[in-house]
Amino acid sequence: MEKILYKPGKGDYNLIMAYPAPESFALASLGYLWLFREADIYEGVNAIRASVDNIPRVKDIGAIAFSMSFDFDFLGVFKILEKLNIPFEVNNRDGSHPLIFAGGPVLTTNPRPYEAFFDFMIIGDGEDTFSRILQILKNNDKEQALELLSKIEGVYIPDKPVKKYTSKLSEVIYTPILSEKSYFKDTFVIEIARGCMNRCAFCTASYTNLPFRYYEYEKILEAIDLGLQYTNKIALLGAQISAHPQFEDIMEYLNQKMNSGMDIELGISSLRTDSVTPKMVQILVKGGQKHSTIAIEAASERLRRFINKNLKEEQIINAVKIARENGLKGLKIYSMIGIPSETEEDIWEFLTLAEKLKQENKGFGLEFSFSTFVPKPQTPLQWTKREDTKSLEAKQKFLEKGLAKIGVKSKFSSIKWDFWQTVLSRGDKNLAEFLTAVYNNGENTGAFKKALKETGIDINKTIDGYDLAEELPWDIIANYPPKQLLINEYNRLLKRI
Ligand code: SF4
Repeated sequence: MEKILYKPGKGDYNLIMAYPAPESFALASLGYLWLFREADIYEGVNAIRASVDNIPRVKDIGAIAFSMSFDFDFLGVFKILEKLNIPFEVNNRDGSHPLIFAGGPVLTTNPRPYEAFFDFMIIGDGEDTFSRILQILKNNDKEQALELLSKIEGVYIPDKPVKKYTSKLSEVIYTPILSEKSYFKDTFVIEIARGCMNRCAFCTASYTNLPFRYYEYEKILEAIDLGLQYTNKIALLGAQISAHPQFEDIMEYLNQKMNSGMDIELGISSLRTDSVTPKMVQILVKGGQKHSTIAIEAASERLRRFINKNLKEEQIINAVKIARENGLKGLKIYSMIGIPSETEEDIWEFLTLAEKLKQENKGFGLEFSFSTFVPKPQTPLQWTKREDTKSLEAKQKFLEKGLAKIGVKSKFSSIKWDFWQTVLSRGDKNLAEFLTAVYNNGENTGAFKKALKETGIDINKTIDGYDLAEELPWDIIANYPPKQLLINEYNRLLKRI
């Protein structure tokens, strides 16, 4: 069952809002749902939801909007286009086809690999840009619309420079459709802040969302009250929620509601290692949370300093202790391997740290969760080399064995998928033919290999990295973060090796 928290409008301009993954994920994506709401209340627009497992038959489609949150979402985009009988590439479409556009973090970071498939893309925060787009789409034919859209900040028409749009954050964004089919069943998610001030050198959540912004405290409380009218599951969202100046007061507001007998299930995706407090953990535990996560990225202090994750070992030890002493049953510790300049010693330090944590927290569920470093555009590490797959595999084996010996669980992301993620992340427009070939060959890592053979494209740059002086595919995004800021930061970090 679904609960819709707004009044849909009426209209005859059919806009398909497509999510390139199963519906359960679409219903859990705050950005997608919020923009769907925006379209659904827009006078004259008939917004229609679609996902890979739910593609409605619609006559007279005005436009199709895709939301791309993950690098491999292009596979879902192709699946939906294929089902709708629409050619993948813009060049193969004609006036009878609807306008097809997209937005989301993947495109804000680097739209270039996807530009053959979309008439235009949204770069930056979508909420304000989207309503301007709706107004143009509804009132103009395809050609006129594209002409007008090219003048809007935050709209990328392939090959033309674009300015990223940064929203001021006024109206609080929350889950507008509650559903038991959602991956986060019936959960009312509230965005309380956007971006992160910490600027870890690999982090797009921080760099592409500069500057750090947050919503007004009173508006957040109003949103919480609204959500509680429909569900008891509340989740607070943001890359750095504890940096909201009134974060403790927000938690206290929820705490008081629970103290007065309200049954609230509270969700917070991760704790900030350097600011975990006993009270915060107690409120989370009262709200039914049993496990949480902290991100340390590297076990060695030198490497953490290099990536600007300025965490001291005492802070990690303290965070785990607070989590255990205040009622959590376990903690997942996010880390990475393959960070540039990583040495054997740095890898050994994972075992030393795990042993220490295990000794001091007997019976507490600790798990190390590793991914491999993927250099991302628009971060200070955007130029660096991706480590060789064989050497990453050797590190993974070593850690798996070592951690098992200590009695600490470990999990690893797929090194092969991370490799292809690097190719997609730092690719340029020449990837178009390759992406189509991947889709035609299936949806596994073997399909990427086959597609590479078939198309013979050169992916060396995406893996080996770029020179500081050379032009990067995503330099087409003109403003923040300015390239010079990234260069300065990269040079500053190199001095810490
Ligand atoms: S603390 Fe987390 S969100 Fe913030 S910059 Fe570092 S990795 Fe990104």
